[in-house]
Amino acid sequence: SNYSKEEILKKARELELEFIHLQFTDILGVMKNVSITIEQLEKALNNEIMFDGSSIDGFVRIEESDMYLRPDLSTFVVFPWTHHAKEARIICDVYKADGTPFDGCPRNTLKKVLKEAHDMGYIMNVGPECEFFLFHTDERGEPSLETHDNAGYFDLAPIDLGGNARKDMTITLKQMGFEIEASHHEVAPGQHEIDFKYEDALRTADNIMTFKMAVRIIAQRHGLHATFMPKPKFGINGSGMHINLSLATLDGKNAFYDENDPMQLSKTAYYYLGGIIKHARGFAALTNPTVNSYKRLVPGYEAPVLIAWSASNRSPLVRIPAKRGNSTRIEIRNPDPSANPYLALAAILKAGLDGIKNKIDPPAPVTSNVYHMDEVERKEKEIKSLPANLYEAICELSKDEVIKEAIGDHIYEKFSNAAMYEWNEYSKYVSQWELERYLRKF
Ligand code: GLN
Ligand code: MG
Ligand code: MG
Ligand code: MG
Repeated sequence: SNYSKEEILKKARELELEFIHLQFTDILGVMKNVSITIEQLEKALNNEIMFDGSSIDGFVRIEESDMYLRPDLSTFVVFPWTHHAKEARIICDVYKADGTPFDGCPRNTLKKVLKEAHDMGYIMNVGPECEFFLFHTDERGEPSLETHDNAGYFDLAPIDLGGNARKDMTITLKQMGFEIEASHHEVAPGQHEIDFKYEDALRTADNIMTFKMAVRIIAQRHGLHATFMPKPKFGINGSGMHINLSLATLDGKNAFYDENDPMQLSKTAYYYLGGIIKHARGFAALTNPTVNSYKRLVPGYEAPVLIAWSASNRSPLVRIPAKRGNSTRIEIRNPDPSANPYLALAAILKAGLDGIKNKIDPPAPVTSNVYHMDEVERKEKEIKSLPANLYEAICELSKDEVIKEAIGDHIYEKFSNAAMYEWNEYSKYVSQWELERYLRKF
């Protein structure tokens, strides 16, 4: 809802709020928080709350560290879970002391790409499918890898702790203004999915951040740990964050629908798809930003490996769900919930816009299960794979000028340095797998 400054001040007094959390997201996708008391709310609403950006990961050098938070009033929401004091949050954009948007703020970045789309006559709508695991915690509150449920896809488990927690999450999210479309057990034990209604890309990115926060908090209330780590357990499905996406024209029509096309897809949809296929290797670092992300993107666990699209099959990168008319959309299946949603959506949108601008035709769709496609057929059809690991993804990003432009120089530099550091740390580590494999053999 769109509140004015006065309305928020009034609401805060009426509700007797005590704390307001000013939230923003850093480059690595971690939510940050500056909490103020109600007495300072007016100052905050006047964009006068300052913080020291030098202590935030990947933000700024020391000399230019004074940053201002500009609350986006439409994101005001009261936390339904607090007991002692009443608290609310507002999501903010980060601005520099000179009053211009800060390049290192992922939310500003997404806004910039959305503006570019708007100038071309489009609004991007996104509906995510966030998957996560619920694990038990030990006596010290540390997360384990244990689940007590043996349920599977869409199963109803009567004594399922996870099921109760999920119900509670759904209720909480509804209280926070989410429209929940589906909530179900996923394929793996302890794995769940809650889907909320699509909105424009900025609102959806905000929603994803809010969703993860709420899910973690409610899980904790149930003695469980919620994790959005992409592949917490070897041998079972990982957690994805499928992105259902469509473009609307400024007068609200679905720009992907064309009733006269054999597949009822518009030229715009095909070109968008062409852009996605072309830049998939380049944007993977943003949609799949961790070392662990690439352990999910392997054959056999419903996660994509090959860069192809299909109307029917769920194994390639992009699927076109059956719905047409106003619900015409494409589903991009490689993103995972460790992604910074602002940067991931900025990159995906930019890829699609590049397809539209340059009229990039997508390859022919695949019809069979691409997991079973052999090397020869793949070569013949020129089907590429997603990057095999984070290192390959960083290299691909460095070569993709379009995706680099989407995130801007500042974020590109900080992001790729952080990812490279992560990769180097991981590469040096000697894992259990290696010990089991080599200790006796050599
Ligand atoms: N968990 C699967 C993945 O990693 C998706 C399963 C599904 O929603 N069909 O993408
Ligand atoms: Mg789903
Ligand atoms: Mg799912
Ligand atoms: Mg899906």
